[in-house]
Amino acid sequence: VLSTMQDVPLLVSRILRHGSTIHGRSQVTTWTGEAEPHRRSFAEIGARSAQLAHALRDEFGVREGEPVGTLMWNNAEHLEAYFAIPCMGSVLHTLNLRLPPAQLAWVVNHAADRVIVANGSLLPLLAPLLPHLKTVEHVVVSGPGDLSLLDGCAPTVHAYEELIAGRPTQYDWPEVDERSAAAMCYTSGTTGDPKGVVYSHRSIYLHSLQINQAESMALTEADSTLPVVPMFHVNAWGIPHAVFMAGVGLLMPDRFLQPGPLAEMIATERPTHAAAVPTIWQGLLAELAANPRDISCLRSVTIGGSACPPSMMKDFEEKHSVRVVHAWGMTETSPLGTIAHPPAGLTDEEAWPYRLTQGRFPASVEARLVGPDGTFMPWDGRSAGELEVRGPWIAGAYFGGTGGEPLRPEDKFSEDGWLRTGDVGTISPDGYLTLTDRAKDVIKSGGEWISSVELENHLMAHPAVAEAAVVAVPDERWGERPLATVVLKEDATADYEDLRAFLGERLARWQLPERWAKISAVPKTSVGKFDKKVLRAQYAEGELD
Ligand code: ADP
Repeated sequence: VLSTMQDVPLLVSRILRHGSTIHGRSQVTTWTGEAEPHRRSFAEIGARSAQLAHALRDEFGVREGEPVGTLMWNNAEHLEAYFAIPCMGSVLHTLNLRLPPAQLAWVVNHAADRVIVANGSLLPLLAPLLPHLKTVEHVVVSGPGDLSLLDGCAPTVHAYEELIAGRPTQYDWPEVDERSAAAMCYTSGTTGDPKGVVYSHRSIYLHSLQINQAESMALTEADSTLPVVPMFHVNAWGIPHAVFMAGVGLLMPDRFLQPGPLAEMIATERPTHAAAVPTIWQGLLAELAANPRDISCLRSVTIGGSACPPSMMKDFEEKHSVRVVHAWGMTETSPLGTIAHPPAGLTDEEAWPYRLTQGRFPASVEARLVGPDGTFMPWDGRSAGELEVRGPWIAGAYFGGTGGEPLRPEDKFSEDGWLRTGDVGTISPDGYLTLTDRAKDVIKSGGEWISSVELENHLMAHPAVAEAAVVAVPDERWGERPLATVVLKEDATADYEDLRAFLGERLARWQLPERWAKISAVPKTSVGKFDKKVLRAQYAEGELD
């Protein structure tokens, strides 16, 4: 029996229409590095998105279902593309500007982007790539940049503002199927070629509702949020869409992602919320220690993308009165998978252990743990297994290329269609996920597993340590043993014996690394995570002895 409810598709255009009318006065502020940031209202974003959609359709013949690339920082124009492209029925393809150039070209060719909207400041990156981009016919340039870099290139070049000027500020957004593609994002490809995840209108809509919930980021019109997480990294964790649902002010950092400007924009624009991976916050905390500024305007900071070291959470809270909320997710999970709010009714002290976990699953995300023998593990907070998830904003396949069948590699999807996350951990009886490691990073030492993340968290709590990354290295006797690489804080000293003794107070003897290396910085991936594959390779080359 069917219900008697209206069959209204969940579309990104509904989010845009709502945000640009009901919350039309909410603002997007883009940092410019100059005295005044740039400000634009949600109503203006709505009008300009319509103009951009008209231009894409009428000038370039962009069709429904066709991908359009963006190579942009977090700024107002990127937000316009974020809405224009899916709302007109096409597919927003955000390009990760930190990918190695060959991978970036691979991604554009695989998606078959015909149009790319790029920031002028990124032309030095784009120009040398263009000869390798087989399908690109048009480049739209937004913001200042050296256009002469594109002289003689094959695609035609258009200035963003000129392209949209004078076009209608309304667009009759099509009522597409809510399950159709709205946006795509390639995983950052730590192993093999990047894989394309294609989000639907429906998945984005439902995910946005969840982001705003009090049990997630709790964003309302009284807030303004600073997504430091790039818009090419899992749609800036869903924040740009979510803010249009709730009228939340947006503070966009553009290309000013260094700790100094970030501290400056927080202190002057006073956002109430921010989101980024731990390495960004590591830099900000060091900056604030050297040049104190007041960041207590931040009601909360969402940290995810890699495990948030407990010492970082405590520093934020004790030194800056900022509450950190830990969250877990992946490109394949839109990304919200878990978020660590403690159960109600606990004292601060009782709440800490919950807040240090990766968090609880929202209602729409189902989870199970698969143990080493393929059986499901109990949620007892002790039994470890690989996490598998299912839900309306979880990927069920990867993009197979234009005209190709979706890909469902066995190591990524179970036979019954759940996403195999590659993350190993436990779940408590009340549904809190604790990740001990990525399956490929866990250290298998003589039949026991050592968590690289646990060693790193303890090391980063040492007062002399700025960053620490631990990787498995081959060992004749034990199979694998941990190699601890550490970056000391400026002017700090500590020798390996000190660090080992510090760990010895917290961990069992067999877990303590006997191999150490001091390095000047931990290599990072394109989205700012520790790049352990580079460390493993450096060790294999004898560079870390
Ligand atoms: P990539 O795999 O290229 O890093 P993603 O950004 O999709 O791309 O990364 C998802 C992975 O990041 C997860 O599978 C997990 O291993 C890790 N991750 C994300 N959030 C956390 C967290 N809070 N704690 C530990 N690991 C995390």
